[in-house]
Amino acid sequence: MDDTSLFQIGIVGGGFSGALLAIRLIQASPLPLAITLIDKSGNFAKGVAYSTTDPHHLLNVPAGKMGAFVEHPTHFYEWLQSNRSRWEEEDERFAALDITPEAFLPRKLYGIYLDALLQESITKAEADGFDIRLLKDAATDTDRVTINTPYGRLPKLQVQLSHSSIYVDVLVLAVGNFPSRTFPFESALFDTAGRYIKSIWTHADPHTRHILRKQDLSDLPANETIAIIGTGLTMIDAVMSLHHRGYPGKIIALSRGGRLSEPHQHVAKPYPLMLGNPNGPLRIKSLYRRLRSEIRKAEANGYGWRSVIDAMRPYTQTLWKALVVEEKRKALDYFYSWWNIHRHRIPPQSHQVMTELLASGKLSIYAADIYHVGGKGNHPLSIAYRKRGSDKVSTLQAAYVMNCSGPELDIAKSRNPLLLHMRDKGLISVGPLRAGIELNEQGRVKGKAERDIYALGPLLVGELLETTAVPELRGQAKALADTIVLRAEEVYNDRNIFI
Ligand SMILES: Cc1cc2nc3c(=O)[nH]c(=O)nc-3n(C[C@H](O)[C@H](O)[C@H](O)COP(=O)(O)OP(=O)(O)OC[C@H]3O[C@@H](n4cnc5c(N)ncnc54)[C@H](O)[C@@H]3O)c2cc1C
Repeated sequence: MDDTSLFQIGIVGGGFSGALLAIRLIQASPLPLAITLIDKSGNFAKGVAYSTTDPHHLLNVPAGKMGAFVEHPTHFYEWLQSNRSRWEEEDERFAALDITPEAFLPRKLYGIYLDALLQESITKAEADGFDIRLLKDAATDTDRVTINTPYGRLPKLQVQLSHSSIYVDVLVLAVGNFPSRTFPFESALFDTAGRYIKSIWTHADPHTRHILRKQDLSDLPANETIAIIGTGLTMIDAVMSLHHRGYPGKIIALSRGGRLSEPHQHVAKPYPLMLGNPNGPLRIKSLYRRLRSEIRKAEANGYGWRSVIDAMRPYTQTLWKALVVEEKRKALDYFYSWWNIHRHRIPPQSHQVMTELLASGKLSIYAADIYHVGGKGNHPLSIAYRKRGSDKVSTLQAAYVMNCSGPELDIAKSRNPLLLHMRDKGLISVGPLRAGIELNEQGRVKGKAERDIYALGPLLVGELLETTAVPELRGQAKALADTIVLRAEEVYNDRNIFI
């Protein structure tokens, strides 16, 4: 087969989901494919979550469950054991790690694992005649076109990159989480000498002169404060970095709920939850009541609440689909943060650091609405906020303010030109929830090219709710690879290329 006859797959987003999809396509396809992974950050396989270089940013799932392959959840743990020489030298601090299936290991280590899987897969694929390309570039637009090929005029998708374009038969959107929410006051903060940090992920915000680039923060004034907007998992990362780099000052984290994620604890026995398929639309309040009563029942029988939340996992997507839009909206407004702090738990080590910092007064958490952040030049920023239950608007001064408010869900506010253009052309649709994109009844991307455009990962949050963690994404990557390989086989049959 020559290059022009290969079935062309474009994957925008070469992070975790995109790279895993490529690996699964290579494994599943009996005939060579052309796969182009396009990623604007160039952090292929690692994406945002696993390109962190701070070894104190930990996985929030135990090593024994983080395997990249849905049929082999212990694969990561086994890989670590048999490839010690490969990863140990990457960071001198890794030598002290206790590698067990229960351990919560550095995400940096997981990134090394993913990178190795992708590289091995590419080497094998190229030997088998696949054409694999990794492009460090931003995809900005897509059009449906018809082009001349040795097989006649064929419909293709033209994907626009910064300075060129490529043609593909199918396009997969694996663009990950959108950046943090943007606040109306941010536009006035461009001139604050890097004191307002829009995102703690460096490559997501390269223009910020950001404090976390410094490995030692012990020389900062002890009487200054760093304020963090958000109290979720990104805030935990920020606090872990500040703490381990010797930051001597005070940290104040603010969010509407003001609640920390619960810590992991060993779940001795799985809870036998039996939920039938819903036989009609559900209401979120009754679902929540049912969950609370199930937790009470479980606790009376010697189980912990964690085992009930874990037992919900196989049902979550089905239950979510059984909520009508209004109920889903209520769930996102009132229930999602409760669900997140119980479902996305933090490693015991991180929880211990947080508890110690809270006890010592170095860290405070406020349940508060933030009204404004203001400042100019190289001066502390002022934050106007109102604590829950109080009528008074107060102000605090902070040397730095970090936006750790969690990802934006609305494409309109995502600032991702590819998605905005695709939405405007009807190639993807934004649902009434305005959370990610919509799927049709067959589970395909709703729009004008339903056979040719696919998506996986956080972009499907409005449809699936649980679509960000590795255990869900590895299942999606396998299923999507199988679907695309079937499609490729049809095309090869049409072109009289036989297996
Ligand atoms: C900080 C953090 C920690 C996490 N920790 C865990 C954990 O411990 N355990 C767990 O199970 N899950 C964890 N998750 C959840 C999950 O593993 C990640 O969200 C997952 O990696 C998402 O994969 P993805 O491929 O969808 O996104 P990413 O891996 O982020 O990849 C998306 C990629 O798309 C690229 N991109 C976006 N738009 C474009 C464009 N227009 N053109 C080109 N490139 C583009 C970006 O540059 C990015 O690299 C974590 C998530 C985060 C954010």
